[in-house]
Amino acid sequence: MSAAYSVLITGANRGIGLELVRQITQTHRELTKVFACCRDPHGAKAQELRALAEKYPDIIMVLQMDVADPKSIHQAAVQVGSVVGNAGLNLIINNAAVMFRCSVLESTAEQLTSCFNTNVVGILLVIQEFLPYLRAAAKAHGKAGMSCCKAAVINVSTLGSSIQLTNDRYDEFKLVPYRTSKAALNMLSMCASLELQKDEVLCVLLHPGWVRTDMGGPNGEMDVKESVEAMLKVMKSMNEKDTGALLDYRGRNIPW
Ligand code: NDP
Repeated sequence: MSAAYSVLITGANRGIGLELVRQITQTHRELTKVFACCRDPHGAKAQELRALAEKYPDIIMVLQMDVADPKSIHQAAVQVGSVVGNAGLNLIINNAAVMFRCSVLESTAEQLTSCFNTNVVGILLVIQEFLPYLRAAAKAHGKAGMSCCKAAVINVSTLGSSIQLTNDRYDEFKLVPYRTSKAALNMLSMCASLELQKDEVLCVLLHPGWVRTDMGGPNGEMDVKESVEAMLKVMKSMNEKDTGALLDYRGRNIPW
């Protein structure tokens, strides 16, 4: 990511989202703005994000956005639009998600609905609301092709969304509402990649690895630093050949 660019991250107050804000802010010199979105910017769970934003007041802008609340997505979009103007918004990382640990027989309708609202519907609405700014960024960039510094949507998915791989370690990871919502996200992302192609907006699904966060738990295979470093490296190398893909943090294709 070498050209000037702006980025929006959902679920930016903890876990992988917070580390994305941290590393993007610290390592990308041409950055103009990081819109760090979270449900409760003034709450206790956003303390670290607020401290980071105070350290980089010109770059980080903390915004309220609950991806399960369409009105708050719209309000955040209006705020972002007023800041980015004709330069548009280059990159959206749809990172926010919820997960429940339960089997088919244990899952409730409420858990499934919650996962779909946050992990699928929220991303659909974010894409719809912010598309004008992504289009503006693609236009402003001028050069042909696709990249994360031009105009892109990165949807954070999971290895657990792969239907082909479900049998691997299923007993360990009975996350039925989560897995089904992420499989639906994969289809949404593929459809979006086809529709956004004409605007030269890249759309890629990215699995961060098994990471030690509140969601990943203490037994995860890596910490957030390692995962985000790898994700940013993969994102930097993405081009039009990757649009529609489901990749892991090393850039390897994951079977659907
Ligand atoms: P965490 O549980 O640590 O953090 C989840 C983030 O999502 C929090 O910031 C949380 O905010 C936010 N969030 C949840 N619901 C909403 C909502 N309605 N609106 C806005 N923000 C919301 O998860 P991770 O950091 O581990 O996961 C980040 C992404 O990586 C997710 O998409 C996840 O599916 C994916 N992933 C993670 C793996 C792992 O091993 N950790 C493995 C594979 C994929 P709040 O504090 O308000 O709850």
